[in-house]
Amino acid sequence: MNEKGNLSINSENFLPIIKKWLYTDKDIFIRELVSNACDAVTKLKKLMIMGEADHIPADESFSVHVVLNKDEKIMQIVDNGIGMTDEEIKKYINQIAFSGATDFLSKYEEKADGDNEIIGHFGLGFYSAFMVADKVEIDTLSYLPGAAAAKWSCADGIDYEMADGTRTERGTTITLHVSEDGEEFLDESKMYEALQKYCAFMPVPIFIDVITNDEEKVEPEKKDNTIHISQEEAATLTKDEILAKANKDKAEETESAEGSEKEEEKEEEPKPLNDPSPLWLKQPKDCTDEEYKAFYHKVFFDLNDPLFWIHLNMDYPFRLKGILYFPKLVEQMDVVEGQIKLYSNQVYIADNIKEVVPEFLLLLKGVLDCPDMPLNVSRSALQNDGYVEKMNSYITKKVADKLNQLFKADRTAYEGFWDDIGMFFKYGCMREEKLYDKIKDALLLKTTDGVYETVAEYLEKNKEKHENKIFFVTDEAQQAQYIRMFKEQGLEAAILTSPVDKPFVSFLEYKNPGVKVQRIDADITDTLQEKTEGEESEAKKQADAFANTQMENLFRGVLGNENLKVKAENLKAQNVSAMILLSEESRRMMEMMEAYGD
Ligand code: ADP
Ligand code: MG
Repeated sequence: MNEKGNLSINSENFLPIIKKWLYTDKDIFIRELVSNACDAVTKLKKLMIMGEADHIPADESFSVHVVLNKDEKIMQIVDNGIGMTDEEIKKYINQIAFSGATDFLSKYEEKADGDNEIIGHFGLGFYSAFMVADKVEIDTLSYLPGAAAAKWSCADGIDYEMADGTRTERGTTITLHVSEDGEEFLDESKMYEALQKYCAFMPVPIFIDVITNDEEKVEPEKKDNTIHISQEEAATLTKDEILAKANKDKAEETESAEGSEKEEEKEEEPKPLNDPSPLWLKQPKDCTDEEYKAFYHKVFFDLNDPLFWIHLNMDYPFRLKGILYFPKLVEQMDVVEGQIKLYSNQVYIADNIKEVVPEFLLLLKGVLDCPDMPLNVSRSALQNDGYVEKMNSYITKKVADKLNQLFKADRTAYEGFWDDIGMFFKYGCMREEKLYDKIKDALLLKTTDGVYETVAEYLEKNKEKHENKIFFVTDEAQQAQYIRMFKEQGLEAAILTSPVDKPFVSFLEYKNPGVKVQRIDADITDTLQEKTEGEESEAKKQADAFANTQMENLFRGVLGNENLKVKAENLKAQNVSAMILLSEESRRMMEMMEAYGD
């Protein structure tokens, strides 16, 4: 077999497009090639389950190896999956944009068990190899009994060559002759980093193998340097005895090469760099708190425990799995920065994609696996996709359910969380009114009395003193005077001091028609003003009016504003002689103008 041909779409224009447009991040070729290798294994496993590959032992162990050879500037992605016949190479590789994954799925659709764990979609991924290589080869042997090995190579992404292959074991080796653009990925640590980024949860064990030509650079064969001593021995032996034993062990080891070989055989299997069965795929009932916490620490590099979490596990009408964590707020931080990692069938896509992830969730930390979402689609297309909206409402509902459940289950514990999660939920309610409607009875106000109350509780408690009015504090230090006066009168105000509270106050009013939300220092008519009992003497009235006019003129003159209205009132307070107040409306207007930079 020997064939030459021309890739079957206008490929001269094609590669520059792939390079510049389709993938913005160069390291994505790793995601594409390793996910193809995983797909190859997943497909074969499916065939085995369906009884279409009975010649393969049921306990076959599958893996993907990324081989790095810096000296030769070669990188290989090796799998022992389904492999390809030369016909399949022609169909799936030479016809660009013809996805073998889609083909496979439609072919086995009826037989398959419903969940398509296959990653490929577009039939373009393979060509991302040319972002970092100027020559790519495929060596492959199909799983089909009696299949012939096939080889494909393409030096410039335009002309390919096909020939008989040499591979004797089932599976595929993709060889990249790495170009200058990709040299950095020959570095083990760089490759490790990229694999951790995209492939940390791919479904097949992944390993890196480093090959080097230079004898001296060859890593010294791993000698077992551990001293083998049992616990009982350790308790009885002295330090010198332990050292003597260690030396004796070493001597025995070097004496008999056979002995050491046996030792190596006993060694545990090397660990893959990925976790092929991530926690979010397990059934929530099978996961322990320890597992959830450990997963959180590992994925988000956060040493603190999360407050609580929500395990999303939906199969119908669309698939969505994931875990959302509510983190503890870091002291002294106004802005919480969350991180929502998006996956599709265990393949990492990106962090914090606003178009897919409900915006309010971006304050949380979590993983979302949405296999029904295409890997590479324009973000504006996603916004218009009904899928995103459906996912949004599902998540919103889950979050609301969790909050209500916590609120009902243990009020004290719930209040303990509130300082950490309050900001998130206030923000969430404003972003997603549906969320507010679902959780409004669990939203708390922390008050100057040092208690937590729902809006309803606050209104009910204070209705004798001021009906349908919520007072609030924006700065406990600055408004300490007012707080003291409030307390003197047996009044309380909500403490709303975080940045999200400013808009939240207006939002509360909007959602509770008839309720006025007012800053503690805005207007004292209801609360702190001395109400004059009975008829005032005409003389006093006149005196007050005169004082008011004089004061108004004074303020008008100083501030240069002829329209200023100034009014003097009598205070109930005992320890305060005078204070200047600004009405709630005027203040909000000013704040709005400030916000718009006027
Ligand atoms: P997609 O994965 O979206 O189908 P790709 O361009 O990534 O598109 O790959 C094209 C096709 O080539 C795959 O669908 C598959 O049929 C075949 N292929 C690629 N890599 C491998 C591999 N390692 N083993 C078997 N088949 C492969
Ligand atoms: Mg692919």
